[in-house]
Amino acid sequence: MRPLNIAIAGCGPAGLATALLLHRDGHAVTLFERFDTPRPIGSGLMIQPTGLAVLRELGLAGPLLDHGARIARLRGESGAGGRVVLDVRYAALGRRDRFGVGIHRATLFALLHAAVTAEGITIEAGRPIAGTELRSGNQRRLMFENGESAGPFDLVVDALGTRTPLAPPCGRALAYGALWGTVDWPDACGFDDAALEQRYRRASAMVGVMPVGRRVSGDTRQAAFFWSLRADRLDAWRTAGLDAWKAEVAELWPATRPLLDQIVSADLLTFAHYAHRTLAAPAQTGMIHLGDAWHSASPQLGQGANMALLDAYALAIALREFADVEDALAHAIALRHKHVRLYQALTALLTPVYQSDSHLIPFIRDRLVGPISKLWPVPRIQAALVSGLVGGPLGPLRLDRPPE
Ligand SMILES: Cc1cc2nc3c(=O)[nH]c(=O)nc-3n(C[C@H](O)[C@H](O)[C@H](O)COP(=O)(O)OP(=O)(O)OC[C@H]3O[C@@H](n4cnc5c(N)ncnc54)[C@H](O)[C@@H]3O)c2cc1C
Repeated sequence: MRPLNIAIAGCGPAGLATALLLHRDGHAVTLFERFDTPRPIGSGLMIQPTGLAVLRELGLAGPLLDHGARIARLRGESGAGGRVVLDVRYAALGRRDRFGVGIHRATLFALLHAAVTAEGITIEAGRPIAGTELRSGNQRRLMFENGESAGPFDLVVDALGTRTPLAPPCGRALAYGALWGTVDWPDACGFDDAALEQRYRRASAMVGVMPVGRRVSGDTRQAAFFWSLRADRLDAWRTAGLDAWKAEVAELWPATRPLLDQIVSADLLTFAHYAHRTLAAPAQTGMIHLGDAWHSASPQLGQGANMALLDAYALAIALREFADVEDALAHAIALRHKHVRLYQALTALLTPVYQSDSHLIPFIRDRLVGPISKLWPVPRIQAALVSGLVGGPLGPLRLDRPPE
């Protein structure tokens, strides 16, 4: 592919990773971001073996592991009796490079952003994007909210996340979202620093603790703390006050008290709305949608950022292999399509098991999932599922080799 003039819209994981990959392949890349100072919103996320494989190619796996928390296990208990209903161990996959990494969103952002700026890639900040305009020669201009425009570009990469203005609205908002906060890691409180742990009451209440390691700018180990909540109960939650909420959480999982003590204001918690959407047409002439702009889901399976990184890598491969931009975009989508569809369907299927008003689904979950998950080959299937490896996404991207 001849060097292209490429606009990348959005400085999330998809946009930053795409910028690095395409810049290294010799394309002229400019990033556009609405924030004056690019920054991430939210708390922790899990990097899976899939996302780690891309970060390894970017030379960022080392820094990620230096800062993040290595996760060996996902564990969930239900009800007062502490019935184990989720126990997934990455070791079941039998490869030493198969594990999760809990990381603060700001840390992942800082690592990618530092690499982008170190390589001299231009970021135009404070540029809220409103749309694009197709011009002659299949080029596009980016249109900003203030009426200004930039371009023309040979390719626009839409990495604007789930509410992208560059694609038609689709999908549905989910009833449940979650409150997320970051707390210092509770040393000597019995939490496993290599596990994401959750407690459930039916599927309507869930509290979780995920180690996220250290920030780039700090030495303190931290954890992401989350509480499932219906979006339409957010106002009632605010009205009831922090103490009422803490009492409810502590009743479900008494060991979280030292974490709750750190949450001294409701402002330390951010409510995340979840949506489930997949674009029917992830590319148009001169434009491709990647990451959450293409597909987003509830984070039950913890795949979103990882899928965004895989999308970025697929685009880079496709632009290397095809001389024509439209052919390359079609190939990038073909490389990812099956995996995206599969995980969107699996996440839609699993979300009500952990976040819904159903009594029946969690009743079955509590009695079946624990016992079944001990039977071969279920531990391996579960580990492959949370790793993002079902459907073999790494093979087509030639990322499926063990690290040296
Ligand atoms: C609470 C929560 C927990 C999650 N946990 C996990 C997890 O454990 N593992 C995992 O892999 N994923 C997780 N995810 C999903 C993950 O965060 C997303 O899939 C991922 O951030 C998508 O990356 P992206 O780059 O596509 O979009 P985003 O991260 O949304 O980035 C979009 C960027 O575009 C910018 N932008 C948006 N609109 C405009 C505009 N109009 N003009 C200019 N700039 C704009 C934004 O400011 C942002 O910088 C979680 C999500 C949530 C909400």
